[in-house]
Amino acid sequence: MYDLIIVGAGPAGATAALYAHRLGLKSLLLDKAVFPRDKTCGDALSGKTVKVLRELSLIKEVEELDGSHINRITFGSPSHSQFDIKLDSGINAKHITKGYVIPRKIFDNFLFQKAKDICDNRQGFKVREILFDGKQINGIRGVDLDGNEESFYAPIVMGCDGPNSIVARKLALYEMDMKNTGIAIRCYYEGVKGLTDQIELHYVNEVKPGYFWLFPAGSDRANIGLGLSKHDAKKEDRTLPEILMQITKSKYFRDRFANARPLERPIGWNLPLGSIKRKNYGNGYMLLGDAAGLVDPFTGEGIGNAMVAAKYATMIAQKAIRSGNFSSEVFQEYDYLLWEELGGELGTSTKLQKLARSSFLLNFVIDRAQRNYDVQEIISGMLSNQDARGALSNPMFYFKILFS
Ligand SMILES: Cc1cc2nc3c(=O)[nH]c(=O)nc-3n(C[C@H](O)[C@H](O)[C@H](O)COP(=O)(O)OP(=O)(O)OC[C@H]3O[C@@H](n4cnc5c(N)ncnc54)[C@H](O)[C@@H]3O)c2cc1C
Repeated sequence: MYDLIIVGAGPAGATAALYAHRLGLKSLLLDKAVFPRDKTCGDALSGKTVKVLRELSLIKEVEELDGSHINRITFGSPSHSQFDIKLDSGINAKHITKGYVIPRKIFDNFLFQKAKDICDNRQGFKVREILFDGKQINGIRGVDLDGNEESFYAPIVMGCDGPNSIVARKLALYEMDMKNTGIAIRCYYEGVKGLTDQIELHYVNEVKPGYFWLFPAGSDRANIGLGLSKHDAKKEDRTLPEILMQITKSKYFRDRFANARPLERPIGWNLPLGSIKRKNYGNGYMLLGDAAGLVDPFTGEGIGNAMVAAKYATMIAQKAIRSGNFSSEVFQEYDYLLWEELGGELGTSTKLQKLARSSFLLNFVIDRAQRNYDVQEIISGMLSNQDARGALSNPMFYFKILFS
């Protein structure tokens, strides 16, 4: 009998295991994959991820992993003007100073190995059923790679099992919602020119509304990809790999890809966006990370939010274990704490995602920023500071930019 069973050992699950250990909880961490495993992603670790890694005293080791250290973000407009935001200067120096791009095969394996050291775990174990004692969850049943069935018991189950979460499905919480789900493809390349210490987001006309990214991923690798909402992707008569090909061959990017070689076929995956609030708790369970639909609708980031969810979910798990109360009312506090921290930011990003549908606005803001340091500072502040970020959806922001 465990205090909690964590289904899925990605950033949400492995981080939950690490926090649970700190809180003295006995957890079992399960994943259907065997680590190291790949996960389709841009591999960018933002300020929020760095904050959690610092809190878990892991940042020093993460810095040594095979990847890239990021000091700048480049934004490109539909008309191909662009500007850089430096993370360690100006207004940003107070908030974020550095980011990282580390292939998920490496980063997730690092986190999993850390979790493996401190909790019971099973890899290659696929959860298929949730077990109940009356209305109360009391465990899970699954199969190992040889097809052997096994059950494990705990009063709390955390669903950290990604966008197609079996936990969410079995609890009837899963709903595919085209407008609030993104789709993105990733393709690792080698030999892409001009990538050093920056991540690049280009709002190009070929993928509208959405963006094309170029991230340096260490060892002359580049993580290249693009994403948009599933709803918009469905209207396209081109496949996403076809769009990627068009962009890399376009006038603006073809020189940078002249000697580049894809290292794989583009791989696609869903991003359940936090532009709506989904139910994420009940009698004895909580959903975390992609299973809870916490991906930022504007930036596509989900790793940091998954890790923040892990922090609050384990706090509430400890409270439930201490009080012996596993009712829905106790787990409701997880939802409350999570949305206190992430709700404002996700709301702002939802507005920004809508604004970014307008090429006119993107051209306007990025063109001005290219020519004007003060505008760069305003945007820098927005990226690093949630209150300032809210300003983007205020018409005054555009007046300020116009007259800067
Ligand atoms: C193309 C793309 C680019 C992205 N780029 C970025 C980025 O640059 N930065 C960023 O922060 N975010 C990015 N994201 C989002 C990010 O990848 C996710 O938000 C993040 O992986 C969520 O972590 P998680 O732990 O919730 O889920 P996952 O990382 O998906 O982990 C879920 C785990 O559950 C396991 N599992 C699933 N089902 C079962 C089962 N039945 N039994 C046992 N185990 C199971 C899986 O094997 C997996 O290991 C991107 C997403 C996509 C698709």
